[in-house]
Amino acid sequence: MAERKKLYEGKAKILYATEDPAVLVTYFKDDATAFNAQKRGTIANKGCINNAVSTHLFKLLEAQGVTTHWIASPNEREMWVKPVTIVPLEVVVRNLAAGSLCRQTGLALGTPLTPPLVEFYYKNDDLGDPLLTCDRIRAVDIASDDTVTELDRMARSINQILKDFFNSCSITLVDFKLEFGTLADGTLVLADEISPDTCRLWNQEETDESRRVMDKDRFRQDLGDVESGYQQVLDRILAHTN
Ligand code: UDP
Repeated sequence: MAERKKLYEGKAKILYATEDPAVLVTYFKDDATAFNAQKRGTIANKGCINNAVSTHLFKLLEAQGVTTHWIASPNEREMWVKPVTIVPLEVVVRNLAAGSLCRQTGLALGTPLTPPLVEFYYKNDDLGDPLLTCDRIRAVDIASDDTVTELDRMARSINQILKDFFNSCSITLVDFKLEFGTLADGTLVLADEISPDTCRLWNQEETDESRRVMDKDRFRQDLGDVESGYQQVLDRILAHTN
């Protein structure tokens, strides 16, 4: 792939067009932000780790019948993806209480959630990505009722696949964020990334509350050893693939 035009630069990734209209390139950066970009930093090697983790998880999901935007991962920083129109909703799935759920409801950290919670947030930085209700999604006209029902179904099925896989890696999938998009023919597909930036992952071999954290909470909470937490997630995934 020769010349390419930058289409969009986000906090953690850059999206490029290619000569082929059916292929975009996602470039994974080492930049990290948290708290709606109020905290900024760099995590060494993060882009490579997140690309590798996302690649493995997209392949795993595709193998189990979930359609994603993933095409190929040609090198350690880049992923080829199908062009999609992103649905402006962040879909969060929660198996255990953590983060904003604890802050907003008073539930204790780690409280099991059965069935898992599926929540929709408005993907809008200016508004601070607020939590939505179905009525609000309808009022703002972000997505149809059928799309919301399908997102809920896909998110729950993705959760089941990822939860079982991480469990086999001795990692607890506490919660995570998904983004979806539509292909030119209207098909809803999983997009963006699934990585330690977008998941809470707890090491089942550690009981200490801060040492068990393998994800972006290490950065958010200044727990140290951020890169090694991310690297350990990748190492476990690689050890349990094939
Ligand atoms: N998350 C994300 N991007 C966001 C917000 C949340 O990837 O913009 C992920 C986050 O890493 C966690 C899950 O979604 O795995 C739930 O996040 P929560 O609502 O608890 O927000 P936080 O406590 O991180 O502010």
